[in-house]
Order: sequence, then C-alpha cells, then structure tokens
Amino acid sequence: MVEPKRKVVIAGNWKMNKTIEEAKTLIKEFSIMIKDAPNPVYLAVPFTAIYALSLQSPSPQIVIGAQNMSDAPEGALTGEISGRMLVEAGARFVLLGHSERRHLFGESSQLVNRKVKRALQEGVEPLLCIGETIEQRNANQTEKVLREHLTQSLEGITSDQLQKIIIAYEPVWAIGTGKNATPEQAQEMLAFCRKLISEKWGAQTAAKITLLYGGSVTPENACTLMEQTDIDGLLIGGASLKADSFARIVNDQKLCTTKRKP
Ligand code: PEP
Repeated sequence: MVEPKRKVVIAGNWKMNKTIEEAKTLIKEFSIMIKDAPNPVYLAVPFTAIYALSLQSPSPQIVIGAQNMSDAPEGALTGEISGRMLVEAGARFVLLGHSERRHLFGESSQLVNRKVKRALQEGVEPLLCIGETIEQRNANQTEKVLREHLTQSLEGITSDQLQKIIIAYEPVWAIGTGKNATPEQAQEMLAFCRKLISEKWGAQTAAKITLLYGGSVTPENACTLMEQTDIDGLLIGGASLKADSFARIVNDQKLCTTKRKP
C-alpha cells in the first residue's frame, strides 16, 4: 500500500517575545529568505502582533497563528482571548497544551480538550503539544504520559476532526534547554504516537496525520530529525526568533526529507 503524503510543517513559537514593530521587521527579513520554501511555515506569534502580521502578509507560505486561546466562546473571563477574536485578527492556527501552559499555568488535558474542540468549532487549526518531563522519562513513564496526553486531550474527537489537527511531541526536558531528543528518541516516540492514533482512530487517519518534533531544534540538528520516518516537521522556539537560523531550517528541509529512511 502506498502511504498517503502528509503535510510537512515547520512551525515557530515566538512565546512572549517581539513587540509589533519587532515582529514586523523579523517577518519581513525572514520572508525574503524563505521565498522558495517547499512547505507552509507556521508562526505562533504574540496576540498583539497577529493582526499586524496577517495584514502585512509578506509571504503566502507563512501562516500566522496564536499561542493559546480560551475554551469559552465569550463572556466574563478577564484576560482571555476567544477563538472568534483570533479568527478575526487573522490567526489560522493555535498552539494548544504547550508544556509552558501545562506546567507554568496548570492547564490540564481536560481543559486542553475543551480548547481543541472550541478551536475546531471556530475554524482555527489546533496544533496540540504533548510531552513528558525528565522525571517521568527517568521513571519509564514516557509512553504512559503520551498516551494520557493524547487520549485525554483528544477525547471525543472524530477521525475526520483529527485530520484537521497537528500534533507536536515536545519532551519538556528538551524545551529551551539546548538538549534536544536524539533523532532516534524522537522517532521512537512519534512512532508510538502514530500507533496510538491508529489503535483509536484507525490506520488511515494515523497515516495521514502530521506529527512534529519540538525541543531545542537548531539549524545543526534539524536535518537528522527531519530524516526520521514519523517526523513530518518541527516546532521551534529559540531558533525561530532569528531570521537566519529559522530560514536555514526552513530552506534545508527539502534536502533532509529526501534522505528519509523508508
Ligand atoms: C517550544 O517553545 O515549543 C520549543 C520547542 O522551544 P525551543 O525550540 O526553544 O526548545
């Protein structure tokens, strides 16, 4: 059987960095460097920069998104941002369940699940993040954590809906630490995720879904990660804050995926 081609995505997460003016300058510089990018480049930018960047729309390749959203449609929720607001501002995707949201802001998989459903309802593509802490990995709990994150965050999601979601495996110990998972570790965990998806949503859905790796990706290690069979793209924090490092990763990807092991 021929495997269906999966969407390849390189995504950046700017976190709480870049004012509107800084964001405009960076995206202008970056879009010139990636004009021949073979695949879409997703950029999760601060809420305040979404509207300006989507208006500026410097490259058709770049998809602007948010880093979080509320699970509620509207209401008395001071400080929250709704899916409808994001769509109006020009966001086309949203990171959900990022480890910083889960660990620093106490977001549970149940809340993430409600956010995933709300994002689908509002027409924003969810980019769901999952991953274990170093304590969980050392206690041989990685598979258990990934199973819980996946099944609980995606509870009640149909196969059709799942095909509209991107999933990123981001081990917490690799995020912002300079200590990336080895390509073999990342491949092993993403193959495990694809197997779980196959068991719950069917082999066809599992074969189609885009799975990313994230955690201390740099221009130096991106290629060996992208060569792995089950890695369809990367989610990048630190290295997405500089036009040249992010552009190198985006531009190298074609070469890397052709080296993929069958
Ligand atoms: C992230 O924020 O999702 C991330 C992977 O960060 P970094 O690349 O800096 O580890």
